[in-house]
Amino acid sequence: MKGKINVKTENIFPVIKKFLYSDHEIFLREIVSNAVDATQKLKTLSSLGEAKGELGDLTIDVKIDKDNKTLHVIDRGIGMTKDEVEKYITQIAFSGAEEFLEKFKGKSEADVNQLIGHFGLGFFSSFMVSDKVEIFTKSFKDEKGVHWTCDGDTEYSIEEYDKTERGTEIVMHITEECKDFLEEYKILELLKKYCKFMPVAIRFGKEKSWEDSSTEKDKEGNPKRVEVEKDRIINNTEPLWKKSPTELKDEDYNKFFHELYPMNFDEPLFHIHLNVDYPFNLTGVLYFPKVKKNIDPTQDKIQLYCNQVFVTDSVEGVVPQYMMLLRGILDSPDIPLNVSRSYLQSDNNVKKISSHISKKVAEKLEAISTKQHEDFLNKWDDLKVFIEYGMLSDEKFYDRMKNIYVFKNTQKEFYTFEDYKKKISALQTDKDGNIIILYAQNADEQYAYIQAAKDKGYDVLLMDGILDSHFINMMEQKNEKIRFTRIDSDVIGKLIQKDEKIPSKLSEDETKKVQEMMEALVDKKIFTIQTESLDESSAPITVTQNEFMRRMKEMSELGGGGMYGLYGDMPESYNLVINTNHPIIYNILQSTDTAKQTETLSQLKDLALLSQGLLKGEALDTFIKRSTKIIE
Ligand code: ADP
Ligand code: MG
Repeated sequence: MKGKINVKTENIFPVIKKFLYSDHEIFLREIVSNAVDATQKLKTLSSLGEAKGELGDLTIDVKIDKDNKTLHVIDRGIGMTKDEVEKYITQIAFSGAEEFLEKFKGKSEADVNQLIGHFGLGFFSSFMVSDKVEIFTKSFKDEKGVHWTCDGDTEYSIEEYDKTERGTEIVMHITEECKDFLEEYKILELLKKYCKFMPVAIRFGKEKSWEDSSTEKDKEGNPKRVEVEKDRIINNTEPLWKKSPTELKDEDYNKFFHELYPMNFDEPLFHIHLNVDYPFNLTGVLYFPKVKKNIDPTQDKIQLYCNQVFVTDSVEGVVPQYMMLLRGILDSPDIPLNVSRSYLQSDNNVKKISSHISKKVAEKLEAISTKQHEDFLNKWDDLKVFIEYGMLSDEKFYDRMKNIYVFKNTQKEFYTFEDYKKKISALQTDKDGNIIILYAQNADEQYAYIQAAKDKGYDVLLMDGILDSHFINMMEQKNEKIRFTRIDSDVIGKLIQKDEKIPSKLSEDETKKVQEMMEALVDKKIFTIQTESLDESSAPITVTQNEFMRRMKEMSELGGGGMYGLYGDMPESYNLVINTNHPIIYNILQSTDTAKQTETLSQLKDLALLSQGLLKGEALDTFIKRSTKIIE
């Protein structure tokens, strides 16, 4: 019998083919997941006693017939009667496409691309890659088999067919331009991508593996290792996230992590097993990975599933930005399949899921920080980036994390913010009542400054993470009377401004003179000369970098804080602070030999620069020659 698909517009196929081109590989996911659905339905009916008899092997077969240029998906599920084919395939499946076309009229191409996502094309998507699609099916209800054919036009034919096996075979006659889908590697790749965790076994081709032989023995009498060829089963039908956490060990979670990301050899730090059934359904596992300095966000992304069917690994908008640092999978029947990302983002369920996940992640971190405190601190360096990113971008997350966030000092001790304030407030409060938190960004390079601060009884934090400067800015904004000061931003005696004043040994004239002498020795575009009356034990000359100016420069480089472009490339700038109470400085001024004065000042200045790695090229050469001469 011939029929005409009830579509008012003449030919919808070319339109669909054209616009779905970029994503047409999803046809395989659609056809295979229909086969899975049909199999699951049969199992359910059988368990209810509505489908009689043995179910037999329910494995789904995917086959390529290169000679006939066809791709076959064969299931042993419920099958369809003739009426059902008419109803579900010809009427319903095609009505989705018709609706699509209605909306498509008069829209621009960009709009259409947006629109496409809203339509579940399901079975229909097979036409994106086929000239002709055939269905051979026989219902479990033991009726006659049916053969349906449609060649990509609005006409189709349907007739009775002698099929012995229950179930459905979809035959896709692959078009010339899509002939890639007749290649084994291509189909294998797609099955691995979309069907890896589908709940019914899928068989495709053969694979070789090494096994112990049951008959042959080696010289020592052990079973011989032989290469065997076996059916290749694509999927793990019972993925870890579907199991109960009580039957799983840490090793199982780690093993699954590597199953998901075969190219990642690091062990994840922690995992979260999600299992929600109200007000929406969501399962999954999320991992905290080791965050490298050079994170590649395009690798090992969170994967989104809908009932064990892969949907996407572009989760932008589905989870908050900072959650993208996590790894793992999310599975929810409430995440709409077949929709474009912009649609996903505006979906209400997706929004709820997103905020729920944030909450779960925060809870997990809270639990680890109290119940596994040791472990939490050991892994802190790796967790920190994630937590800081979350605190910086999500107010709610900030509130939950602020009491478990820890600062690490240069002695590798950890303190919560509150504890740390208590620890340092006695010594590190300035004359205006601000608590001054001192920090280093590089324990080696800033060693001398750290040491000087420690000698004074100060504590120094190590803030060397990639987000630390942003984090510091935020903490200052959120906490009154808290200032962060990098350890080299001033001479030690002035890092924390107190009321005490040390009298200067030099007169005002002498101070002015030494300042001018030094100014003559440096590039004034880079160096500002300051004089300070510090205690005698402080260095004669110290290089410092003003906290505010340095942060401005860092911001302009990072392009953050809205400063980008405004300040452009800010030049490097430093202060050279002369300690007017240092004996050498005093002696220089007592001398009358101007050559000697210049030499000694130059030497002191160069030593200060050298300690900061600021002496290079010609300046370094001059310094070495001068030093040699002095030793002579
Ligand atoms: P959906 O799967 O969202 O219902 P599809 O367009 O993928 O939409 O499929 C339409 C209908 O065709 C299915 O709901 C089902 O009734 C029927 N169908 C498709 N493939 C099979 C199959 N392999 N076995 C039995 N029925 C099928
Ligand atoms: Mg479907």
